[in-house]
Amino acid sequence: MNREDLRMLSEFIDRSRRIVFFGGAGVSTASGIPDFRSARGLYLQQEGNLPPEMILSSSFFYLQPELFFDFYRKHMLHPEAKPNAAHLFLYELEKKDKLRGIVTQNIDGLHKAAGNIRVYELHGNVHENRCMDCNASWPMEKILRSEGIPRCDCGGVIKPNVVLYGEPLEKYVCIGARREITNADTLILAGTSLAVEPAASFLDDFRGKHLVVINQEPTPADERADLLIREAVAEVFQKLMDGTV
Ligand SMILES: [Zn+2]
Repeated sequence: MNREDLRMLSEFIDRSRRIVFFGGAGVSTASGIPDFRSARGLYLQQEGNLPPEMILSSSFFYLQPELFFDFYRKHMLHPEAKPNAAHLFLYELEKKDKLRGIVTQNIDGLHKAAGNIRVYELHGNVHENRCMDCNASWPMEKILRSEGIPRCDCGGVIKPNVVLYGEPLEKYVCIGARREITNADTLILAGTSLAVEPAASFLDDFRGKHLVVINQEPTPADERADLLIREAVAEVFQKLMDGTV
C-alpha cells in the first residue's frame, strides 16, 4: 500500500469536518459477506439457472415466495457477520464529530451494529422485517428460524425491509442521503463500482473539496477523484487506525 496515499487520506480527514462515506459490497467482504454481483456465476449454477436479480425481484417475491425465501435465507442473511475495520473506523470518525453520515448500498446493518447513527441504508436492512397484514415488526432470527414462507402470529407474510429489484428506493432515505452528500466537504467512495442507479447519480450532488475513491476495481468516479486508492477499504482504514501512516 502506497504510504503517500495513506498520508494524503489522513490529511484530508484531518482537514475535514463534514465527511460523508458512500459504500457498497466491498465494505462488507472483510466481514465474510460475499459480493453477490461478483459471485453471480456461483448462484447461477446453484439455483437452476435463475439469475439472482430475478429471484430478488418484487414480482418473484409475490409469485414464488417459497423459492424467494429459500434463496434469501441461504445467501442474503449472515448472522455470524461482525463489523470490520472499515465499520469501526467510521464509528470513530462519527464519535469525533467529523463524519456527517454514511450512505450504503449494503443491507447487512453492520454500520448500525458498529454504533453509527446517521446511516442511510439505500437498499434497506435485513434486521427490519414487517408483517404485510398487521405491520408487526420481526427480527432477522424469525426469518432464519422459519421454514418456507415466514409468517406473523396473525398469519400474515413477513416481508424483509430490503429494496427488491423493481421496487423504488425509500424516498426519505434518498432525500437524506443526497442532502448529506450536497453538504459534505469530503466524500469517500469505497467498495462500490457504482453500477447501481439511481445511487450512482447521487455523486453529482457533491460540491466539496476532496473526492476520495477506495476500490479494488475501476469506477466511473476515478477520473474525478482527488485521491484514488486501489485497495480493500478495510485494509486502508485498518492502517489509519494503527497510526502507521
Ligand atoms: Zn401480522
